[in-house]
Amino acid sequence: MVSTMLPKLQTFAKRRAGSKINMIHIQQHTSLQSFNAFGVDVEADYFARFQSEEELIALLSSPEVSVDLSSDYAHQKKILLLGAGSNILLTKHVEGIVLKNEIGGIDIVHQDDDYVYVKAGAGVAWHEFVLYCVEHHLGGVENLSLIPGTVGAAPIQNIGAYGVELKDSFYTLRALDVDTHEWLNFSNHDCQFGYRSSIFKTKLKNRVIITSVTFKLTKKHQLHLTYGAIKEHLTLKGIETPTIRDVSGAVIAIRQSKLPDPRKIGNAGSFFKNPVVSAEVVEHLTQTFPDLVSNKSGDGFKLAAGWLIEKAGWKGYREGQVGCYDKQALVLVNYGGASGAEIVALSQKIQQSVHDKFGILLEPEVNFV
Ligand SMILES: Cc1cc2nc3c(=O)[nH]c(=O)nc-3n(C[C@H](O)[C@H](O)[C@H](O)COP(=O)(O)OP(=O)(O)OC[C@H]3O[C@@H](n4cnc5c(N)ncnc54)[C@H](O)[C@@H]3O)c2cc1C
Repeated sequence: MVSTMLPKLQTFAKRRAGSKINMIHIQQHTSLQSFNAFGVDVEADYFARFQSEEELIALLSSPEVSVDLSSDYAHQKKILLLGAGSNILLTKHVEGIVLKNEIGGIDIVHQDDDYVYVKAGAGVAWHEFVLYCVEHHLGGVENLSLIPGTVGAAPIQNIGAYGVELKDSFYTLRALDVDTHEWLNFSNHDCQFGYRSSIFKTKLKNRVIITSVTFKLTKKHQLHLTYGAIKEHLTLKGIETPTIRDVSGAVIAIRQSKLPDPRKIGNAGSFFKNPVVSAEVVEHLTQTFPDLVSNKSGDGFKLAAGWLIEKAGWKGYREGQVGCYDKQALVLVNYGGASGAEIVALSQKIQQSVHDKFGILLEPEVNFV
């Protein structure tokens, strides 16, 4: 049990030569409602923000965390690292401490004839980073415009959209090992990136805290225009030789037209991953569903999870305060006041019904906490 002798708010500041550490507050019994895109209202036992690596270390090694809070935390590792909360579903009270990453800064660290290497703090908003790149004519991430969240969370599920993934422009990242407090560097290969996956979602889940990411961005751009409605949008605008700014603008407009804004309707984007199946499965399903949507992906075929859910009759469905978004069936929404358990219950019904109809088990993309 966590000691109940703790004061309501813990504050401490540590200074070491050459390091700048602001006052760090550890709050108790903090509502996480405004810190998750689903807008689910649960509390965390403890909550603190950090804006530098020094503050993170100070927090992890502070007497408040490592002694007062620790007997449970350090031991059971009940640390929940939080970025912008746009890919989590809080299903219950968070026992332990939530650490909110607010490390900022975007810097060009190196360049050669073809590439510019840019390092961004893990707490930088992802879209702010994309806009920085577009502003500085650096190519590679323009198709990933307007994805919510932080730079530090982007490698966790290898964010992707419109035919591009983070791994395509990722160079390296720096992270702290939660157990040993050792600093680690991960190359692109080390991260074991896959479709909405990486080593941080599998072997190293909750084991490291990413503090910065360095990207390798192009000076001579290779545009990806074939996926989704990008080309169509550019043609409608009369743009024949698009720049990365045009592509970013097109992606922003398309996303705004079909995805709900979490500030207005609680949601975490795509709730499920697109399932990857064998050619035999595609062939078999196509006999019954000739309009099945599938795309070649590695050794298999990626099916559109949104299409499967829509065909199973869920698009626009609402049950109390939870529902399946009417413009994109892959997005589950909280109309206000829904609990994490209600969202999980709806997701399970959808999973079951898609399984009954197509024999395919949808896997959640969202991280359940
Ligand atoms: C409207 C909407 C649209 C979306 N569209 C897309 C899309 O097109 N493509 C896509 O890939 N995703 C999409 N997402 C999902 C989401 O934007 C991404 O997964 C994003 O990277 C999450 O960032 P975050 O900072 O909000 O992470 P959080 O939700 O705060 O955290 C996600 C997970 O990463 C861990 N984590 C966070 N930061 C760190 C860190 N610094 N170190 C270690 N672990 C960490 C957390 O503990 C948690 O397990 C969308 C979400 C929404 C709401």
